[in-house]
Amino acid sequence: MLSPLVYCGPMWGGKTEGLISRLVRAEIQKVRVRAFTPARNTRDGKKVIRAHSGASFPATSVTHAEEVVAASSELDVVGIDEIFMLEGIAEGVREISRLGKKIVMATLDMDSDGQIWEPVGQVLGMAEEIVKCPAVCSVCKKDAYYTFRRADAPNARVLVGAGNYYEPRCRPCWHRGQEEKRRQAGQRELFRTAPELPS
Ligand SMILES: [Zn+2]
Repeated sequence: MLSPLVYCGPMWGGKTEGLISRLVRAEIQKVRVRAFTPARNTRDGKKVIRAHSGASFPATSVTHAEEVVAASSELDVVGIDEIFMLEGIAEGVREISRLGKKIVMATLDMDSDGQIWEPVGQVLGMAEEIVKCPAVCSVCKKDAYYTFRRADAPNARVLVGAGNYYEPRCRPCWHRGQEEKRRQAGQRELFRTAPELPS
């Protein structure tokens, strides 16, 4: 396994599935392996990494990548889910690699506004292998590399356990959806600021 290895892409692309398959493989190889998940990632509780397919792997919940670095001296393979949520991840990956440990991660690469998660960009720069995991576009069924936030979703960058506010989309369908949201917001604004009719 090349290391650092990153599975990345939109929601529902099978990133966590890829991570779990590597962790299970390490177990079969009888190497010391352990998985970690950001405490902020409360989907299905904190003691397990779970893929949408149902596959799961036991995990330790951490609030900062330093905790993973500290634990990694006892390990050969380190797995981390949803690294976009983990404080200090870029420094952590550098340190764990320096210690000669293998590290495999899963993460969203962009938010639903199409902005790259900054620390993820740094980790991708250090990665020796990157696996892009496209989902299926909810509109046209082509490969989807974007996560679309529906117009009725709360306006927060991270919505944990709020999968029904999102859908995977290909680039053209994602852009069309963004345009549509802007147009609707513009209409609402126009309506709100319309001068009152004289009575
Ligand atoms: Zn599409």
